[in-house]
Amino acid sequence: MRAGQLRKLRRKEATAATAARSCGACTACCTVHKVVELNKDYGVRCQHLSDAGCGVYTKRPQSCKDWYCLWRWNVLSEAERPDLSGVMLDRMPADPLFPDGKALVAREVWSGAFDQQQSLLDRMALTETVVLCYSDGRKVTIGPPAKLIGVQTRANVRRHLPVS
Ligand code: SF4
Ligand code: SF4
Repeated sequence: MRAGQLRKLRRKEATAATAARSCGACTACCTVHKVVELNKDYGVRCQHLSDAGCGVYTKRPQSCKDWYCLWRWNVLSEAERPDLSGVMLDRMPADPLFPDGKALVAREVWSGAFDQQQSLLDRMALTETVVLCYSDGRKVTIGPPAKLIGVQTRANVRRHLPVS
């Protein structure tokens, strides 16, 4: 399948899966996430973001149209919306550094949010590898010990979760 077709399919699936939820008052990803078309890096507030939301909504870049955080996919509770919890979760594209090629990435919406949301992060890390991207640039990988074996080569600091 060609890249364009794949993008269209992913968009269609995403639209169907996220139909039950809208972003509401949240605009976290407009600062926390990267937007290639705008040359906007992670953690930089988008130039088009205003108190009323996206100022170029109908003409926003394709990557803004295509991307949804994990909360939109109905995986998390209402209270775990990124602007309320301070944690924005996304599914990483297949990554050969991880044993099963998959991982979640969590980004801190504000400094200290990961410490406040330890139970949410521990819950996700019971079954999945989660790369925590702190707002100060640190990265810590957590997850079930069996899934972290292949992560030895990563420069990140690692933390094994106690599995009970
Ligand atoms: S972080 Fe998620 S819920 Fe918030 S605006 Fe972005 S897609 Fe919507
Ligand atoms: S263009 Fe709009 S949707 Fe995209 S990051 Fe900026 S404010 Fe958000």
